Amino acid sequence: MAGPAERFRPVKRPFAVACKLTFRCNLDCGPCPWKDPHRKDLPTGAWKDIIRHFGEQRVRHIVFEGGEPTLRSDLNEIMSHAKSQGMRVNLVSNGTRDLAPYAPDRFVVSVDGLKATHDRLRGQGAYDRLKENLSRVKIYKDVLICLSRENHQEIEDLCEDLSGLADGFWFSFVYDYGGRPSCGLSPDERREAGQRILRLSRKFHVVNHPAYLRELGKGAPCRPTALAVVDAGGRIARGCTVGLVEEPDCRRCDLACHREVSLYASPWSRLWSWRPFSP
Ligand code: SF4
Ligand code: SF4
Repeated sequence: MAGPAERFRPVKRPFAVACKLTFRCNLDCGPCPWKDPHRKDLPTGAWKDIIRHFGEQRVRHIVFEGGEPTLRSDLNEIMSHAKSQGMRVNLVSNGTRDLAPYAPDRFVVSVDGLKATHDRLRGQGAYDRLKENLSRVKIYKDVLICLSRENHQEIEDLCEDLSGLADGFWFSFVYDYGGRPSCGLSPDERREAGQRILRLSRKFHVVNHPAYLRELGKGAPCRPTALAVVDAGGRIARGCTVGLVEEPDCRRCDLACHREVSLYASPWSRLWSWRPFSP
């Protein structure tokens, strides 16, 4: 991970940009701060301008997320535009809707636990729909498991259950935003989970870099400028996603998206073959 001086030095050009294409979602997960039915999404043309802006900065990896991005009828048009800018496209979905009409370079499908846990958190039938949709996708797909008090004891069984349906497993950790139900793990629990994920990587394709897993729970700031984030209203944050919502508290944060992209921004990263986005 970056040394103390590097952590505070801004990264000149973001390595990747995450675009939260919509405030809408067909699910209603308790800790989620991004769904907001009262706010209006940016139109297609505005997203194309934003993507072009990052394309001109030679940002080569783009992530489309939400809300649930497949709720946008122009999703394919927006993804094609990103590809025309030479970008590798990652599409993040909750997996409850048909994914077959889309052709990103990589799918990332979020899972909250085994069937009973997932359905309790995301609605009856959500787990079976997710498995069905995963089975129909022929493009590279990672399952994203965001660990919390609700699911951290299930990761071994979850990997077993989904191993035939996913190409890789990517782990992150719930950040407890203020004013929402708290379910985030303590630093010690995150460290312990990291050791278990490292053991899992002997059997399954774990996408996380070992350096991220070994640093869990330490609470130092990452280099958040390595990832640019655009919210569904068009606010661009060259930095911490948490900062779009509230004052960030790094001691609570082990968000893989930022901490792993920070690793890539380290001068040592050129020695690694690992890349956090698109195969
Ligand atoms: S599926 Fe994702 S975007 Fe939708 S409510 Fe849950 S966490 Fe939020
Ligand atoms: S809150 Fe998380 S993403 Fe934000 S600067 Fe701290 S470690 Fe990085």
